[in-house]
Amino acid sequence: MDGLGRCYDDNTPQFTQRVEGTVSESYDYIIVGAGSAGCVLANRLTESGGHRVLLLEAGGRDRNPWIHIPIGFGKVMFDREVNWMFETEPEARLRNRNIKVPRGRVLGGSSSINGLIYIRGQREDFDDWRDMGNPGWGYADCLPYFRKAEDQSRGADEWHGTGGPLSVSDIKDRHPLADAFLAAGESVGITRNDDFNGARQEGLGYFQGTARRGLRCSAAVAYLHPAMKRPNLVVATHALATRVLTEGTRATGVEYRQDGALRRAFATREVLIAAGAIQSPQLMQLSGIGPGELLQQHGVPVVKALPGVGRNLHDHLQARFIWKCVEPVTVNDDLMSPWRKLGLGARFLLGRSGPLSWYAGVAGGFARTRPELKRPDVQFHFFPYSTDRTDPSLHPFSGFTMSVCKLRPESRGFVRIKSVDPLAAPAMQPNYLSTDHDRRMLIAGIRLARALAATRALSPYVKAEYRPGAIAQSDADLLEFAKNTGGTIFHPSGTCKMGDIAREPLAVVDRELRVHGLEGLRVVDCSVMPTLVSGNTNVPVVMIAEKAADLILHTAPR
Ligand SMILES: Cc1cc2nc3c(=O)[nH]c(=O)nc-3n(C[C@H](O)[C@H](O)[C@H](O)COP(=O)(O)OP(=O)(O)OC[C@H]3O[C@@H](n4cnc5c(N)ncnc54)[C@H](O)[C@@H]3O)c2cc1C
Repeated sequence: MDGLGRCYDDNTPQFTQRVEGTVSESYDYIIVGAGSAGCVLANRLTESGGHRVLLLEAGGRDRNPWIHIPIGFGKVMFDREVNWMFETEPEARLRNRNIKVPRGRVLGGSSSINGLIYIRGQREDFDDWRDMGNPGWGYADCLPYFRKAEDQSRGADEWHGTGGPLSVSDIKDRHPLADAFLAAGESVGITRNDDFNGARQEGLGYFQGTARRGLRCSAAVAYLHPAMKRPNLVVATHALATRVLTEGTRATGVEYRQDGALRRAFATREVLIAAGAIQSPQLMQLSGIGPGELLQQHGVPVVKALPGVGRNLHDHLQARFIWKCVEPVTVNDDLMSPWRKLGLGARFLLGRSGPLSWYAGVAGGFARTRPELKRPDVQFHFFPYSTDRTDPSLHPFSGFTMSVCKLRPESRGFVRIKSVDPLAAPAMQPNYLSTDHDRRMLIAGIRLARALAATRALSPYVKAEYRPGAIAQSDADLLEFAKNTGGTIFHPSGTCKMGDIAREPLAVVDRELRVHGLEGLRVVDCSVMPTLVSGNTNVPVVMIAEKAADLILHTAPR
């Protein structure tokens, strides 16, 4: 059968029957979305062989070679075949620009198109989740799941695991500009850090990434591909879930579209929504689970009024500095010369090294914008190349980039359906920079980025500041720069937040990720984060799904 990772007729004849022109099937668990979280769930729930699982994915197989070559993220970021390419509503504080929000639409989801950077967040992020009414989610509770997921190329220690499905590797190369960036940090008191996921996060260093032998290790590669060999897992690709089916207060299955047909699948145990921070709330709202007023406005019968579904959207906004470089050492220079370009290909093919093997940012790190702060409040990504980011091409001059984002934003927005058409993108509005604190701290981060470039270590490489340019000096100028050019660093989260609904009326799921007021339905993905982690989001989502699998199978310590 077209579009299926595994053919129903070969594997599940007893589960397939036609009902009133639709196809209906029955499983123990149905997972919606084969992204970072969905792939983990599909693997863990089928591991024992005792459960039958259907995994629905709106996108296709992860066959595009640019998915697997790490630097290919710069290409798949613009490829509608594997990317939803959402846009925000006009962002009022960003000059009413519609900010582009890429999201994976392919096996592996966003982990198949992301920048591969392996960062977990700060210990306090998880302790905060716990203290917000989610016992069991403190750092000490989450660490075993980070370790369980991990296959750390440097070996195991107190913070790291080996033998897990997700390979974590260093970049093979060192780059003179990245070395200068790290030296710049030391000269302004930001120490070196070779492990952002160990004893302390603060400092600058080379990033580790989710890669195996120089190729991307997406959640699909790590978890799903091995599990697809199991007879108790059915993977349906190009299968868009359109509604969660319910009977009274119980979720009983999922309606989905595939190959032009409307199908229904039933879950004897649970439906697990893992469609990501934009589409999990969309699917819930389309299914009558969400803010009552919104549902009524669209004529969706209310199954369960939950005002928090789609609220609490927050994201990291980045400002990107670009400098013209004195020396022709950037990847821009490599691409401007046919011989050097050939060399890049050869380095990757022969040794899995060179720019094709790099993550989104070879180096970066975390810093405090004021010494009295208890923990880092900004994150840097450093790239020995530059681009306008409107397409995959690099600038036709020697250039390098440093991006800065303020961690733990206060600004909050929403995801709301605009129509009952499941193919129509919902409205999403993160409301970037809507608090004074967010604006002030971003300006402080931008000043720190500039201070790094002005050090004796990095300044010899600087020919000129290309963006924003020396003319931007005052706080107002720098804020203007962020408003005119700032964009997402791809971490939308929080739209089905975990919490105790007696304490937090906007909570959507409880601490076991069960939807409040409904049975047989959980949300497991980036949307359950009550607050965004201080870092990148892929690995925290993998951790959440690892823990969720234990909760679902009742193997977690309670
Ligand atoms: C360009 C980019 C760069 C990034 N860089 C990094 C990085 O370097 N490091 C890092 O840690 N994080 C990074 N991230 C963020 C990280 O990858 C995501 O936060 C994480 O993958 C989210 O996982 P998820 O399971 O919540 O959702 P996703 O991985 O997005 O999965 C959701 C899946 O559900 C599917 N789906 C949606 N709706 C339906 C439906 N109705 N029916 C069926 N299927 C559906 C989607 O197609 C998708 O496959 C990046 C993200 C992007 C987009």
